[in-house]
Amino acid sequence: GTSLLEVRNLKTHFFTKAGVVKAVDGVTFDIKPGETLGIVGESGSGKSMTAMSIMRLIPSPPGKIVGGEIEFEGKNLLSMSEKELKKIRGNEISMIFQDPMTSLNPVFTIKKQMVETILTHQDMTKKEAIDRAVELLDLVGIPDARARLNNYPHEFSGGMRQRVMIAMALSCDPKLLIADEPTTALDVTIQAQILDLLNRLQEEMGMSIMMITHDLGVVAEVCDRVMVMYAGQPVEFTEAATLFDHPKHPYTWGLLNSIPKITKKKEGQKRLEAIPGLPPDLRNLEAGCHFAPRCKHAMDSCYSKNPSYEPCEPDHFVRCLLYEEKEEVLSND
Ligand code: SF4
Ligand code: MG
Repeated sequence: GTSLLEVRNLKTHFFTKAGVVKAVDGVTFDIKPGETLGIVGESGSGKSMTAMSIMRLIPSPPGKIVGGEIEFEGKNLLSMSEKELKKIRGNEISMIFQDPMTSLNPVFTIKKQMVETILTHQDMTKKEAIDRAVELLDLVGIPDARARLNNYPHEFSGGMRQRVMIAMALSCDPKLLIADEPTTALDVTIQAQILDLLNRLQEEMGMSIMMITHDLGVVAEVCDRVMVMYAGQPVEFTEAATLFDHPKHPYTWGLLNSIPKITKKKEGQKRLEAIPGLPPDLRNLEAGCHFAPRCKHAMDSCYSKNPSYEPCEPDHFVRCLLYEEKEEVLSND
């Protein structure tokens, strides 16, 4: 079907005294209506900067979107005026973050903040806005919602605060919710509850979700498709089920090996095998595959030839010479 959001060859660079940081360097993906797309990678891989580029919230200077296209419902977000953007940002597209305290104001009650947000987007009386706030808090599972409206952010637990933030993000009935590590700061039980909540809200409201995470466990819980990023570029993109069953990129293999596995043996959890080494310095990228210095499968050609990002199967993109080389061998005989 038609995509809600289409990002093509997006490039967002930061011009610093120490050099040009290619934070996002050729990112292409789309999100369909009602779909949850996961964007996975280590910190610094460009996930958040991709989201900030879509929201047109890149701090400039030093940041700048230097190339590519972003279309939301067929409208080009990159050519919009700030006034036009305001109708989309926090309205048709809203965003939630890891730490709700960064988006909730500690000195005002939840009521004041929610009512203000609702009145910014909707034409209603203050009393109607309060009723709507109660409805939204109910929807996200906050007990005794009408009374809790009078509380300050610090009077909620971490998980409840995240629910309040989700309620605020939903107050404009967005078509796309961008969630940047929304459960990272929470303990495992609360994390599972918030992911359940997002799944349920999506079923009820039909919005699309772009879920940014470093955690493949989160992807398994909520995502339909997933894009894996490394050093500012997508390295693999396919259905979530395919990624878990038939991962193609050596970096994805490493990420999958670092998920804790519960075994039936007495020792319980297997030891995690983290990927050794560090991501490259994005100011001084060398020729060849950016993952080569950490890749167990690197060949000589990986240090000189840039792998292209192509489908290895329909709907399964990968950026790795293992598959290109194979094709060359096949086509040589
Ligand atoms: Fe590893 Fe080479 Fe593939 Fe890069 S291109 S991921 S170094 S095998
Ligand atoms: Mg981030």
